[in-house]
Amino acid sequence: MTQKTDILIIGGGVIGVCTALYLTRAGHQVTLVEKDELCAGASRGNACWVAAGYALPTAAPGVLSQGLKWMLDPGSPFYIKPRLNLDLVRWLLNFRAACTHEQMMEGAKTLLQLNSHSIQMFRDLAADPDLEFGYVEAGLLHLHLSEKYRKLGEESAELMRGMGMEVISMGRDGLEELEPKLKEGINSGVFYPEHAHLNPMQLVQVIGDQAEKEGAKIMLHTEVTGFKKSGGRIAEIHTTNGTLEPDEVVLAAGAWSSILAKRLGAPILMEPAKGYSVTVKKRSADQGPSRPLSIDDTKVAVTPLGGDKFRFSSTLELAGFDPSINQTRLDVNYQSLQQVLPDMELLDGEEPWSGYRPLTPDGLPYIGRSEQVENLVFATGHGMLGITHGPITGKLVTEILTGQTPSIDLTPMRPDRF
Ligand SMILES: Cc1cc2nc3c(=O)[nH]c(=O)nc-3n(C[C@H](O)[C@H](O)[C@H](O)COP(=O)(O)OP(=O)(O)OC[C@H]3O[C@@H](n4cnc5c(N)ncnc54)[C@H](O)[C@@H]3O)c2cc1C
Repeated sequence: MTQKTDILIIGGGVIGVCTALYLTRAGHQVTLVEKDELCAGASRGNACWVAAGYALPTAAPGVLSQGLKWMLDPGSPFYIKPRLNLDLVRWLLNFRAACTHEQMMEGAKTLLQLNSHSIQMFRDLAADPDLEFGYVEAGLLHLHLSEKYRKLGEESAELMRGMGMEVISMGRDGLEELEPKLKEGINSGVFYPEHAHLNPMQLVQVIGDQAEKEGAKIMLHTEVTGFKKSGGRIAEIHTTNGTLEPDEVVLAAGAWSSILAKRLGAPILMEPAKGYSVTVKKRSADQGPSRPLSIDDTKVAVTPLGGDKFRFSSTLELAGFDPSINQTRLDVNYQSLQQVLPDMELLDGEEPWSGYRPLTPDGLPYIGRSEQVENLVFATGHGMLGITHGPITGKLVTEILTGQTPSIDLTPMRPDRF
């Protein structure tokens, strides 16, 4: 059975559903295919932040040397599985090249633009009574356990202030005012008041439902298995539920996008960067933090998730597509939580979750038309910031496909830049 559609979106994570909503609102006939349920990938178990002030790319001066030290520590938040893989070698070489101050600041300009557009769009979405996804603007508190991370936190804060972001440095009094239960001895932190958080599963579900209500077709349990190209265009998309003939294709398959892109003859450099999270049911109403916290020394994030749960998340492992969870690393996360909040013993946690951030070497997403395949648009590679960048990505893809001038200069996000 062959079906025609104007625009086919591959992937039902935050990027796919946001793109479906804005394209549908612009009057396009849209079909979204998802191999599983909605929100089955990285969009499911992440740290839930709309990270307005998180604009420094992963690739930054000093990151490589710190990463190499961490490689020797089995409990560290970072790990590269040693393996002979040409794509990984090319990714690492380009990552290294992006670790300069100049490149970091250039990347930060783009990320900050994406962040500020998205936060405004999140406010608009959250104002719609039909779209409940637990959106709260309560800021983000970075905590520093050591002098080294106090200095690094202050340096980042200074850079962000220089770019116009409100950032408040805090000593013990300020920290206690925001988070009265913090353990003694934690005397330094930095507060980003413009940060928000939300429930990512609710977000993806309600945006997907809304897109469907407004006319998009969503095909679940429909995996893209192959393509037929003709004259430099995608003529057919083969799926486990039949063949589709789209005019345009949006590739929004998260970390899996690089596999599909390679098969399409439009390769992109991207690594699945595994992270873990555990969602915890509160034992009492006031257990856990009142707002998102980041423990900078261990890279552990804790976020309240609705009324009766919170979630902690951490780690970045470049280990290919391997969902296994390293218990030692997870235990270190627990311990670092116990270092900052006294009521973190005996957590009543759900099964640990792991997911793959779609990580590009320079930390910027790939948003734009393919150079190699005429009717292919990339909407992927959002790394640590895919939840934050969902709405603006949907808007930018819509602008590309309707021939409008994009709201943000897309040049730094060109899919063929490596
Ligand atoms: C531990 C952790 C914490 C994070 N914290 C944050 C945070 O606080 N804030 C933030 O902004 N970001 C955060 N991120 C990053 C964010 O989760 C991702 O960038 C984002 O979810 C990527 O969304 P996506 O839609 O591109 O990919 P995904 O959510 O992975 O969705 C891709 C979808 O494509 C589908 N798919 C794949 N192949 C096919 C195929 N062949 N056919 C059909 N469907 C296919 C998959 O099943 C999947 O559902 C975090 C990530 C992790 C791992």
